[in-house]
Amino acid sequence: MRPRIGSQLGRQLGSSLRSLGAMVGLSLLGCPMTGATTGAMTGATTGAMTGTMTGAAARPTELPFTELQRLAPSIRVELRYATTNNFTGKVLYPAEARCYLRTAVAEALAKVATALQAEGLGLKVFDCYRPQRVQFQLWELVHDERYVASPHKGSRHNRGAAVDLTLVDQDGRELPMPTPFDDFTEKAHRSYQDLPAEAKRNRARLEQAMTRAGFVGLPTEWWHFDAADWQRHPLADVPFAALAAARPQVPPATGPTP
Ligand SMILES: [Zn+2]
Repeated sequence: MRPRIGSQLGRQLGSSLRSLGAMVGLSLLGCPMTGATTGAMTGATTGAMTGTMTGAAARPTELPFTELQRLAPSIRVELRYATTNNFTGKVLYPAEARCYLRTAVAEALAKVATALQAEGLGLKVFDCYRPQRVQFQLWELVHDERYVASPHKGSRHNRGAAVDLTLVDQDGRELPMPTPFDDFTEKAHRSYQDLPAEAKRNRARLEQAMTRAGFVGLPTEWWHFDAADWQRHPLADVPFAALAAARPQVPPATGPTP
């Protein structure tokens, strides 16, 4: 029953799973695999689906997703799940995948990018909104409850209210950080200190910039941040293709259309 996962991360997962306790295991769930919402995989689910949503927050949404780069073109996007360069070694997102976030979350992230530009820095995102159907695929690939939270919980990425990202310089080069993205070891924890000073400094810069804009970092993943009000946003399973159709990727031509 070993999960079929990429060899590099497989080793990391194996060792970290052996060494991490249940508490850490639970918090690890925040990022790539949290919430195989198997019970919710039966249809388009833009509406509220969790038992935790109440009152006005439980209203179905009207596709209030924004493509981040349309709002903030300076932010670089490298969706790892649209490539094989992720811990599963598999392409999980279709070619039309883009970085979509709830509009308020995207706007907050755009402000972070603007603030960082003054320091000669930028942002590069690795993951944004993740349809629940992909969460289901992750569950199939890594069917391990030490990683996957309650199906009723879901991932904050499924809500469009979480983002994975790092800092880049003006040329788009990633700044040194404690670990690569999706490295599930203790080194990725925000409290981990046995690191080069530069990595700690960069981690702190990213965290400060995000925190000022109202994001909250996941303790076990230096790259993962949630919108503080993530609970307002329901779990969603809108396919990327539907979002692309609703919001065309290419801006309208300025001249007459042939
Ligand atoms: Zn994440």
